[in-house]
Amino acid sequence: MKTLVLGAGVVGTTTAYYLHRLGHEVEVIERRDGAGLETSFGNAGGLCPSFAGPWAAPGMPLKVLKMMLQKNAPVRFSLRPDAERLRWARQWLRECNAPRFRVNKARMQRVAHYSLACLRELMADTPLRFDYHASGVLQLFQTEAECQLGDMSANTLASLDIPHTVLDAEGARAIEPTLQRATINIAGALHLPSDASGDSHAFSQALAAWLQQQGVRFRYGTDIQHLIREQGRVTGAQTAAGPIHADATVVALGNQAPRLVAPLGIALPVYPLKGYSITAPVTDPDAAPTVSVMDEHNKIMISRLGNRIRAAGMAELVGHDVSLSAAGKATLIRAVRSLFPHGIDYENASFWAGLRPMTPDGPSILGESGVPGLYLNAGHGSNGWTQACGTSRIVADIVSGRTPEIDMEGLTIARYRR
Ligand SMILES: Cc1cc2nc3c(=O)[nH]c(=O)nc-3n(C[C@H](O)[C@H](O)[C@H](O)COP(=O)(O)OP(=O)(O)OC[C@H]3O[C@@H](n4cnc5c(N)ncnc54)[C@H](O)[C@@H]3O)c2cc1C
Repeated sequence: MKTLVLGAGVVGTTTAYYLHRLGHEVEVIERRDGAGLETSFGNAGGLCPSFAGPWAAPGMPLKVLKMMLQKNAPVRFSLRPDAERLRWARQWLRECNAPRFRVNKARMQRVAHYSLACLRELMADTPLRFDYHASGVLQLFQTEAECQLGDMSANTLASLDIPHTVLDAEGARAIEPTLQRATINIAGALHLPSDASGDSHAFSQALAAWLQQQGVRFRYGTDIQHLIREQGRVTGAQTAAGPIHADATVVALGNQAPRLVAPLGIALPVYPLKGYSITAPVTDPDAAPTVSVMDEHNKIMISRLGNRIRAAGMAELVGHDVSLSAAGKATLIRAVRSLFPHGIDYENASFWAGLRPMTPDGPSILGESGVPGLYLNAGHGSNGWTQACGTSRIVADIVSGRTPEIDMEGLTIARYRR
């Protein structure tokens, strides 16, 4: 069976891997000159199933408003009218309550833990190097309100039997001693020992190269224009280089997925949420953190990637604009420096912006699209690196007519057709 994978981000390359494993003849189409060059390029590197959860949380609208009013606001909305953005924001607001948070979080947890197990299996099957580091993650809280949200997360983790420890400030410093020098108040933390980190760009590139050796075809530099539909069935994609036909087609186009499937009457509620990252050299390995840290107050994730520190965060609802703002870089560096003032060369940090393909409720959208021959692997939001292997294995199973290994409740497009 010939299967097309549209997009070679971390989601597309892992989809290709699982389809190839199941015996498909796989062809991947990508407009850039290599794999993992868009959102999968400079993300925070966190492989963090334990805190995978929706940004639509109780109290979040107020928190966002407060953040927008701060001097160096880490959150920004464009005021230009955009019907798509307004629709998405309305859907997001409807999810910002405790019952919906619990449902959405449990769905994301189900996928994310499965995904890390899949990644570990993939690592045993392939010789990939991508600065993988299994040191656990500290979710840091600076206020009592954040600690309360942490307690809510801890309850969900306990109900799912996921290892975690609720810590006070001293406990947090014992796990990551370089926090002793932090200049901010630490109110508490949640330690998630089974989480990890790694470079998703290096992973995507290495996996694509390995797959090419195994016979998977990657067509880089090829822009996909639209899907080909014949007698009610998707039979491939029209590209700038001509039509490419297949028995099945998987859309793994990140933020571009809605645009491609819209002409078929499929409304994907995926909207880009812009974020920034810095990557800075470690100058003193003993003064720089080894445990990944999620600073919940500023929503910034900090990972050690070999001899570099990667920190990413900020949230801007500004459409598909990926321009860099000096203020964004300064805000990010200020927040990271307040946690880790030493051992990192902030002067030589490189700066990047990317667009998280967000669904309003949180979970990604997997499997059948409703149009025969077309499958979705989209909307991975702020957890796409964490979820890529699991979601791709699920989609490959569905394309192959197999039953996925985890419950698909709430993970398909059907949840928006209530
Ligand atoms: C600041 C930031 C920090 C993040 N931190 C984390 C983290 O710590 N942990 C985590 O799990 N996730 C994180 N994420 C989220 C994660 O990076 C994304 O969810 C993930 O990269 C999405 O992968 P993707 O393959 O769906 O999209 P992409 O990587 O964007 O891949 C889509 C591909 O489709 C191609 N494409 C699009 N349109 C066309 C077309 N017309 N023709 C041909 N090709 C096309 C693009 O070129 C691209 O290569 C972060 C994201 C951001 C922005």
